[in-house]
Amino acid sequence: MSISKRCIILLLSIKLLVILPPWDAFSFGFAAHRKINRMAIFTLPPEMVGFFKHHIEFITERSIDPDRRAHTVEGEAQRHYIDIDHFADEGENPFDIVPREWEDAKKKFSNDTLQRYGVLPWHVQVMMQRLTRAFMAENVDKILYNATHIGHYIADLCTPLHTTKYYNGRTPEQRGIHALWESRLVELYADNYNYLVGRAEYIESPLDRTWELIEESHLKVDTIYWVFDSLRTHLPPDVVYAYEMRGQSTSRTFSRTFSHKIHQAMDAMVERQMRRAVKSVGDFWFTAWVNAGQPDLYKLEKRSLSAAFRRQLEQEEQIYKKIDQVEERPTPR
Ligand SMILES: [Zn+2]
Repeated sequence: MSISKRCIILLLSIKLLVILPPWDAFSFGFAAHRKINRMAIFTLPPEMVGFFKHHIEFITERSIDPDRRAHTVEGEAQRHYIDIDHFADEGENPFDIVPREWEDAKKKFSNDTLQRYGVLPWHVQVMMQRLTRAFMAENVDKILYNATHIGHYIADLCTPLHTTKYYNGRTPEQRGIHALWESRLVELYADNYNYLVGRAEYIESPLDRTWELIEESHLKVDTIYWVFDSLRTHLPPDVVYAYEMRGQSTSRTFSRTFSHKIHQAMDAMVERQMRRAVKSVGDFWFTAWVNAGQPDLYKLEKRSLSAAFRRQLEQEEQIYKKIDQVEERPTPR
């Protein structure tokens, strides 16, 4: 255990006022992942929607497992982001530099480098293959597991701060911006967003769509920092920050007033990205099903999960629960 961890635990145990930095003070975007997976179900055609609705609670609640797994499984954390700006110097377009295909990218930059700066776009392709194979095999356990988890990674593609090495701010003053954007604002406002995004559509090239989503997300990074800075520097600190109880401790967080102002100033960016994610998750699920030959999901709806799969889920849950109790874990990306 590190000295700083020991200090925090000691402080907690003697019930002193503990002021955690704001990036520890939120719930890691869980609300967004749940909402996106859930709403994506309603984009599906009649041949699919029954099966997915039948398992709606699983698909909703288990949407957060990949983030929980990031703390327990080696190699998982880097599947949630790509620091695309790492690969470009000032004035260069990183999307011209990083090859889209995994093998080409690996040849150019090495596996170690890609693992260090994130493999999200390529992991989506792995998940797509797994989901397609699960549909082909008509394996209910694997369809559910992979559909739920690919939904998570696609939502991460639509999160601008998952595409930059400055994922939690370029300056010390911007720290906490990651959780503010993807957790705080979602918790406060996402229930009122419009999730009517139309019917799921077939994707000709999932790899190209993946990169399009990353590029769209990355283009928003500058705006997020700019809006944050222009608001923060014009407001007194007691308007920007507030103190809230989280469990046993008091945490400094961004105030509701500041959250409201930044949400407004970004002009529905969070809503647009969540809608983009909902539609894309539906599109990827639909595409995997079509590519698998459109198996009969009415038939699968009646099958229950296998005992082995239930045991696996229970074991995973026990591990995640232990991790959930550690308050000072770093922000997953
Ligand atoms: Zn994630």
